[in-house]
Amino acid sequence: MINISGTYQLAGRSEAHPASAMLYETGQLVIQKSGSGTRLIEVWPDGYKYGIVIPGLPVDIEFSDGALFIPHDNSFRWPAMDRNHRLAEWLESHWLTVLSSVIIVPLFMWSMVNYVLPGASHAAVAFLPDSIAESMGEQTLYILDKTYFDPTELSDQQQQQVKQQWQIIVTKLDLPEDRFKLHFRKFDMGANAMALPDGSIIVTDDIVTLMEKDPNALIAVLLHEIGHVEHKHSLKMIAQTTATTMLFAMMFGDIEGAGELILGAGTGLLQSAFSRDMEREADEFSYQNLPKFNISPAAFADAMTLLVDSHSSADEASDQTAGNTTDVSAENSEITNSLNHWLQYLSSHPETQERINTARKKGEDDNDLLY
Ligand SMILES: [Zn+2]
Repeated sequence: MINISGTYQLAGRSEAHPASAMLYETGQLVIQKSGSGTRLIEVWPDGYKYGIVIPGLPVDIEFSDGALFIPHDNSFRWPAMDRNHRLAEWLESHWLTVLSSVIIVPLFMWSMVNYVLPGASHAAVAFLPDSIAESMGEQTLYILDKTYFDPTELSDQQQQQVKQQWQIIVTKLDLPEDRFKLHFRKFDMGANAMALPDGSIIVTDDIVTLMEKDPNALIAVLLHEIGHVEHKHSLKMIAQTTATTMLFAMMFGDIEGAGELILGAGTGLLQSAFSRDMEREADEFSYQNLPKFNISPAAFADAMTLLVDSHSSADEASDQTAGNTTDVSAENSEITNSLNHWLQYLSSHPETQERINTARKKGEDDNDLLY
């Protein structure tokens, strides 16, 4: 039996008595007036219920006629209260912990990763010395040459034609010639172009051959690549990845692991793709500068169409010869995804179509300028 002192408050009246409650193991509850010992009420479990649990406040007992018994001890809890009551109470007294683990911490992480770190790392990139971009570019090209690239097999004449176009672009856009360099490479995975942080632009033999009869398309592609360099996209990507890794390392206490990741940051270029916003910025750079060469922005659409066609016919060819070499092609696609800048972007079809439409539309808008 439990005996607890409190106040008995009659239903609908301001009248209240100091009283004690006796709760028996059978669930029977007796309220007695303090002092005199007069029985005020005696009920079985179906005649009363426990009130709401609010941390710091006593849990009252409500009788079916509306009368209340309120214990004096704020922390007193009736032993017969069920588990639901206790869970509710735990949640209520730990609401801040619960809220922070379920909402605040994930929200904090999410906003750090999506807004704070990109913003901070993008801003920080502006202060990086050029030497960092240079060594990252050199490091990446070195790795690519060791792994995926072979020396070009283009004829001198083919190279000369592209070099001339390149020279016109560099002169017209007034780009520093010691920074922007064009590289020819043979690449097994088809027509592609990519930009490294130091201003090295690589064109594969296949893209040169593909666009031989449409030099304007190649200029549109080269301008897109230059756009990536001018906007420092590679550096922003690396800075962001590094900062995110560090945040998680600090949260989970793996600082040594973070150190290793930062040292290997340059290779991060090979593992992640530019964001959609970055691609759009590079597209925009191309559209805006094409008119300087008397070329319609529609040339960008032509370039994309050529690339889409070349890659889908390459896919069909490999499908036909694929047979049971699924593993190999899966492995290949992983490599292509991380490395092949254009294939990466082209692989998201709705967006490719959207980009083609945008370029065509820009071409039409500027039609009266006559290219
Ligand atoms: Zn791009």
